[in-house]
Amino acid sequence: MRNLFLGILVVVFLAGCSNPFFPPLKDKGELDDCLHVYSNWTTKTEATCVAKEVQERTCSLCGDKQIKEVGELGHVPGEAATCTTDQICTICEEVLVEAGHTLGAEATCTDDQVCMVCHVVIAEALGHVPGSIATCTEAQTCTVCNDVIEEAPGHAFSTIPATCITASIPGSCTRDDCNEANPESIVLALKHNWNWSSYLSGSGLRECQRNDCTVKAGIGDTGPAGGIIFYSTEFDFFTGTTVGDNNTVKRYYLETALVNEPSNPEWGAYGTLISGVTIFTSSDASVASIIGNGRKDTNIIANHLKNNTTETNRAAQLCVNKNFDGFSDWFLPSLGELNQLYHNRDTVNNAGGNLGAFWGYWSSSQYNNNLAWYMIFYNDEQLFTSKYVNISVRAIRAF
Ligand SMILES: [Zn+2]
Ligand SMILES: [Zn+2]
Ligand SMILES: [Zn+2]
Ligand SMILES: [Zn+2]
Ligand SMILES: [Zn+2]
Ligand SMILES: [Zn+2]
Repeated sequence: MRNLFLGILVVVFLAGCSNPFFPPLKDKGELDDCLHVYSNWTTKTEATCVAKEVQERTCSLCGDKQIKEVGELGHVPGEAATCTTDQICTICEEVLVEAGHTLGAEATCTDDQVCMVCHVVIAEALGHVPGSIATCTEAQTCTVCNDVIEEAPGHAFSTIPATCITASIPGSCTRDDCNEANPESIVLALKHNWNWSSYLSGSGLRECQRNDCTVKAGIGDTGPAGGIIFYSTEFDFFTGTTVGDNNTVKRYYLETALVNEPSNPEWGAYGTLISGVTIFTSSDASVASIIGNGRKDTNIIANHLKNNTTETNRAAQLCVNKNFDGFSDWFLPSLGELNQLYHNRDTVNNAGGNLGAFWGYWSSSQYNNNLAWYMIFYNDEQLFTSKYVNISVRAIRAF
């Protein structure tokens, strides 16, 4: 039995284990059955972040080797990736998450492309692509985004501006390739801007205050209301006084409207001597020399007439109601003021004054309750007639 047992053991050994002298037997059914006695598992390959540890053990009887993988460490991630730094494994330094910006919208003509996280510029703005150059009326724009690159400058009209005495002359555009006609309407002559600038040491005449115009106001010049100046005096029409000496007194002026009133009215108030209105009862020289009553008397007459509804469009009323060129302070000249208009009629007419009422103009001076003064313009004569006669009216104003 003992020999048999040993024999079997040898046979098993020779059959189940490699033996150069005894190739394994075909029938391994029982012979292959080594009762392995393995060593402890030993590490064959150390574990890494990505590979398991490989262990093996060997049978001390037959030398059989067994291999297995155990565990898995995995990476140990470092700090999270940022725009510029990768996230790496703190063990193996393998890059786990690559650094990278978070791209914003693509760059445009005017806006950079930036990282939405750190705002660093990733792609600079492309800049506009200019279209054709600006013309007088069309801006230069970007062919990509249509932004205006250069505004249209507008036409450069060669207009000659209006002066005190001349209207503007609109000129066409002077830019190359334009020549556009100027659609602006003509600006009328500005008229002198009369005021006193140095009357204390001078003549007391008003001087034009506009730049580049130093004209002194004189007979025949255009007045503030577009009429024609026909008289100047140191008498202040507004206070009714004359003060100071010749070196300190401002001069005041009368201007006549450019045309007669459209109708030839009655004087009005027939049968009434209007209280407060200048009365002349003779035609001596002093009658025609009194200046300064017209403004006051016209208002008194108009106030009197408005109490009677049948008295409309009378001579004084036409003047009070006149509104020309923004001025509404017109009045019916006194006989003396009318006389000055007569004596300067040629100058006034040369300046466009249209003094054509050959048969005369009403004055605001009355003679008595039924008669008022007028002046014919074909000779130097003051006359009075019934207040109900129809005679021309020329409104004047003081300034
Ligand atoms: Zn074995
Ligand atoms: Zn790792
Ligand atoms: Zn970034
Ligand atoms: Zn653009
Ligand atoms: Zn132009
Ligand atoms: Zn002027």
